[in-house]
Amino acid sequence: MVAEIICVGTELLLGDIVNTNAQHISKRMAQMGIDLYYHTVVGDNPERLKGVLEVALGRSNLVIMTGGLGPTKDDLTKEVVASYFGKKTYFHEKTFENVKKRLESYGINQITESQKKQAMVPEGALVIQNPAGLAPGLILVDGDKAVVMLPGPPKEMKPLLEECCNVFISRLSDHVFVSINIKCKGPDEMPLREIGESPIADLLGDILDNENPTVATYAKEDGVLIRVTASGKDREEALIRMKPIVTKIAEILGNKIAWVKEEI
Ligand code: ATP
Repeated sequence: MVAEIICVGTELLLGDIVNTNAQHISKRMAQMGIDLYYHTVVGDNPERLKGVLEVALGRSNLVIMTGGLGPTKDDLTKEVVASYFGKKTYFHEKTFENVKKRLESYGINQITESQKKQAMVPEGALVIQNPAGLAPGLILVDGDKAVVMLPGPPKEMKPLLEECCNVFISRLSDHVFVSINIKCKGPDEMPLREIGESPIADLLGDILDNENPTVATYAKEDGVLIRVTASGKDREEALIRMKPIVTKIAEILGNKIAWVKEEI
């Protein structure tokens, strides 16, 4: 399994922003035991984007792309990828619901045509809803080739990358992954009162930057879930890596933990 990264954005080429997405994804692939040989940066130009995609898919099985998933005319990633695989895009109701809900939470009730574009996804793509923004993550598989598309803003890209690792990328690795879910609850005197994601993240601090295992928080409808994922040559090695971090989280959160379960 060989992967590579394409980051899309003229801002990157102009030097206006630093390509921290490529760094983050590279580190994550290395932890997962996935070989990664190339980084490419390309501007918001459909011909050049198609060109680099063709080169990347000619030498790698997995291409992870970031950027160009926004609502404006120069955001072309999903259209170019869909057309490369001979697929159309279609209006995805669930994504539209998510876009509407998020815009409403910003106090916006009028949805523009360009915002509706966020709900267009390539036929056959696996759609992963964005917990922190509008554009969903997309995974398009064609034979032994796959393209993962993630939004540009790092705070959106990172949780979506984790979800893509969980639902798809980990299957491509020869490493073994073990995930432990930790469900949080409110204080004992008010167990049903939900404790929010930000207070949990504040309590965990640097633990959230840990690399193997990774630690991610998810704001679920029935409360915050923490997922700790370790990888290793075998299950035993993954569990050895897992143990100290789970112990540390248990010490920090104490009675704010409702349950701890291994994810099967
Ligand atoms: P949006 O919906 O916000 O437009 P998008 O998926 O279209 O998202 P871009 O428009 O390409 O993404 O980038 C949006 C912002 O995300 C950039 O202005 C920059 O701040 C950040 N960003 C994009 N690409 C990268 C990258 N490779 N590394 C770090 N930050 C990035």
